[in-house]
Order: sequence, then structure tokens, then C-alpha cells
Amino acid sequence: MYQSLLELFNDREAAESITACFQCGACTAACPLNVFNGPKLSPRQFIRRLQLGLPVNIDPYLCMMCRACESVCPRNVKVTKLIQELRKIWFKNNRTPTPLTQALWKIYEDGNPWGYPSRTRGQWLDKLDSNIVKKRSDTLLYIGCVSSYDIRLQRISTAIAKLLLKAGVDFTVLGDEERCCGDPVYHAGETDFLEELVSENMAKFNSLGIRRIVALSPHCYTMFRDIYPRYGGDYEVLHYTEYLAELIDTGKLSIDARLEARVTYHDPCYLGRYSKIYEQPRRLIESVKGLSFSEMSLSKELSLCCGGGGGRILMESKPEERPSNIRVKQAVETGAEILITSCPYCIINFEDSAKVQKTPLKIMDVAELLQAAAGGQDG
Ligand code: SF4
Ligand code: SF4
Repeated sequence: MYQSLLELFNDREAAESITACFQCGACTAACPLNVFNGPKLSPRQFIRRLQLGLPVNIDPYLCMMCRACESVCPRNVKVTKLIQELRKIWFKNNRTPTPLTQALWKIYEDGNPWGYPSRTRGQWLDKLDSNIVKKRSDTLLYIGCVSSYDIRLQRISTAIAKLLLKAGVDFTVLGDEERCCGDPVYHAGETDFLEELVSENMAKFNSLGIRRIVALSPHCYTMFRDIYPRYGGDYEVLHYTEYLAELIDTGKLSIDARLEARVTYHDPCYLGRYSKIYEQPRRLIESVKGLSFSEMSLSKELSLCCGGGGGRILMESKPEERPSNIRVKQAVETGAEILITSCPYCIINFEDSAKVQKTPLKIMDVAELLQAAAGGQDG
């Protein structure tokens, strides 16, 4: 059985890491799902069952792919890659949760997981004075599905575009022609459609001469940086916080106004633990004069997942099982008035939790903060 599971797992490096596990249990203690009274996830038991060739007894779609388990594992066991391999097997056996399979159909038909019409994807651009759609440039600002359609999150899209325009950067956006990067397809474990979607996106990018992709969402960023190269993608990929930090460091962008507020910062999993981008968002926050910044006790490598990764943003979690509730409390404990982050999924989850907890904590993206300091609020 152990041998046959290894055969089923295409990711050899991940499959071979199973044997390194010495069952210390640090991963299970670190998993955010184990702080609730809801469904538990024990990566330790999962790996043990793989070692012994026993049937695995976890739902791989519960995992938020936050990598908290891997960050504490002393043996470098590839827990999330193994869970991803299991998802592929579950997908082939029609065991993928319905909300995720429905989202895949909507991506197939409309280019986004909620089935919004593609002709309205670029409407957020109406809030800009400049026409940057399909302008000839080798730098693409890739907005992503949720920040294209969601009215609240469009404020992040316009803030980043305005900051890039202010810095005099030459860039383009795809507007109505942008399609999902494939993150939900990848996390569902659907490999055939993923290949089709990635190939179509790359054909579009290549036909426009795109060489550099600046992604708004850490989830799209991770897709372009880690998954697209498997299909031949060869782009310089940056998260927008990296790009803006570079523009500030080189003097192309300056933030002159002051904002008086107590703030803290949440490291999104797909930016922090996945890519070690910890300093750039903090440098951007520091560039705004007048802010008083405090770290939360769990920050950087130890940051607590908001609950939205691994496709979980498209699946329902019971209110009492949302890690964002705990994260919002941790932010309030610092005395912060504003919880800043740099991922649209984190914004959705934290705003929901702040509302439920009736806390006046304000949730902002780094780009919104900079734009508010640089030249006024968007929205
Ligand atoms: S990736 Fe996160 S949610 Fe998944 S098993 Fe590891 S710690 Fe738990
Ligand atoms: S932390 Fe690593 S070595 Fe320890 S039980 Fe988990 S997977 Fe095994």
C-alpha cells in the first residue's frame, strides 16, 4: 500500500520526504485548525499513515495550505505537497467539495470563480483617469478575480494602479480580457484544466510582449512564480509590495503626507512563509510618517493563517472555525486601530471577523494605506 501510494504521488521529492518524519508532532501543534472545537487536522497522523501504508483519514480540502506545519518541521517533510497530491487523487475520484467544483465550471465559462460576466471585469478601471488597458508595455499589473469584481477590494486595485502611475511606471492591465490565474483549479487538484488555463493565459501574455508580472494577490503571485514555470512560463514575477518598495528605495515614488494611527501588520501565508517577503511590506508601512507600528506576537514565519488559502476562500467555514477571528483579536491586543495586510483574501476574512466581533478595528491593504497617505482615499 505504501509503495502504491508512492506510485500515485507524482511529486517524488514530497513522497520521499515521508520517510524523514520522526513523529514529533510539532506540525499538528502548529496547525491553526487545531485551536477550534471543529474538524481537526493532524499532519502527524497523516504522515504516519502514509509511512505505515494505512488508508489516510483526513479531508485534504480542509487544509488551508498555510505551511505553518512545515515552518516548524525539523525534518523538512513536504506536508502541503503531499496534501496537494492527495487532492489530485480525490479530484479524480469525484471527492472534491461541490463549491470548489462549481467554481471550476464558472472559471471555465466566465474566467472567474463566481460566474461574474467577463465584460465587467475591467469596470474598476473607470475610477482611473488614465487608459492603461492593453497599453503596449512589458510590465503587466495582474489584478486577479476577487479584486477585479469585489467593490470593496477594487479599492486595492485602484490604489496600486494610482501609485504606479504616480511613480511614472510604464505598465499595462488586461481589463475585461484578464482571466483567473488558476489558483482554485490548482488547489482543487484538477490538472488537465489547469494546463489549459495556464497555456491560454501565457499565450495572451506572450502575444502582448509581457515579460514582467506584478501581481496584486499573493495567491496569483505564487501561481505565476511557482506553477507557471512548470508549463513553460518564464516571467519576472513580483508581488506589488516588492515592486513598490523598489520604487520607493530608488526614489521614483515618495509618500509625503502623514497619517497619525496605531497600526499592526499581518503576514499573508502565501507572501510570508511561501516567499519570505516580510521586510518589503514593513518598509512600505514605515515610509508613511506618523504611524505607530506594533508587531503581533505571531508574526513573520509564525503568522496565523486568515483561513482563505488552499481554495478555502471558496468553501464555507463555520464562524467558530475561522482563524481570522483569533487573528483579529491578536491585532486588537496590540492596541492597533488599523490591521494592515497585503492579500485580498485576508482583507475579506478579517473584515468579516471584525464585524462579527463588533470591534472598531479598521482593515486596510498596504496599498490603500500608501494611497491614503500619498494622495487621498480610494473608493
Ligand atoms: S498547511 Fe496549515 S492547515 Fe494545512 S496541515 Fe499544515 S498547518 Fe494545517
Ligand atoms: S513536524 Fe515534521 S517530523 Fe514532526 S511529526 Fe510533523 S511532519 Fe513529522
